[in-house]
Amino acid sequence: MVWPQKKQAASDASQKRSIGKGVFRKCDGCGETLTAEAFAENFEVCPSCGQHHKLAGARWRGLLLDDGALEAWDQHLRPSDPLGFTDGKTYGERVASAQRSSGAEEAIEIGRASIEGIPIGYGAFLFAFMGGSMGSVVGEKIARLFERSTAQKLPVVLLQASGGARMQEGILSLMQMAKTVAALERHRAASLPFVSVLLHPTTGGVAASFALLGDVNMAEPKALIGFAGPRVIETTIRQKLPEGFQRSEFLLAHGMVDCITSRLDMRREIARVVSLLSRAQPEKA
Ligand SMILES: [Zn+2]
Repeated sequence: MVWPQKKQAASDASQKRSIGKGVFRKCDGCGETLTAEAFAENFEVCPSCGQHHKLAGARWRGLLLDDGALEAWDQHLRPSDPLGFTDGKTYGERVASAQRSSGAEEAIEIGRASIEGIPIGYGAFLFAFMGGSMGSVVGEKIARLFERSTAQKLPVVLLQASGGARMQEGILSLMQMAKTVAALERHRAASLPFVSVLLHPTTGGVAASFALLGDVNMAEPKALIGFAGPRVIETTIRQKLPEGFQRSEFLLAHGMVDCITSRLDMRREIARVVSLLSRAQPEKA
């Protein structure tokens, strides 16, 4: 018996995503079916119900930054595999496959940019890269984002979207929580503002360290923000959680989040907050 030859896939996953024309997609919020172009033109916000779907890093730059321009910092940093971690695949293989599918080197990009003419230190998690998980490179880049911004007297705007610590780096991932917060504290000691933008989802070690320490914590509508997931908490405390628990709106009502801003208004709102906080700086004698 002769088995038919398996055909090679004509394109890989990264190419498929770029084919948008004539493709229809269903909104996660209202279930309405619209063309992929209709979502793309509106920065992945549903034109019918306002549901926010995930937006790629390059589109965020285009949406928020002047001319979409980022002068990237520390692009040379690469993860190592100190634990020799393997879970079916080696950690090195997982990183290589994430680089291929996401087109990014790591799960965050940082650099100098400006918003409505205001110079800022800018960072953005890239969720497509291993769920935006924080390993030693991500932690180091966040620490450097705060350190360089402190040296250059820049406010920091950081877009969060992460599943938390990267398990393949074990304790080294958890150590990033303390390191990043220490760098953030030095930035704060220099009276420089930090706007933390919480996207869906912001969880685990990222939520438990710098993400909720913004001078202003600005969230997207309906974003999941919290440390452990709702199911884990329910089985631990054996209680039913209230409706909307860990979503932006719930956290705003309970004081964990300062404002909820539509993605489409975010550029203007971030610029407004940064300029207000910068002006509030006391005059140095
Ligand atoms: Zn919708």
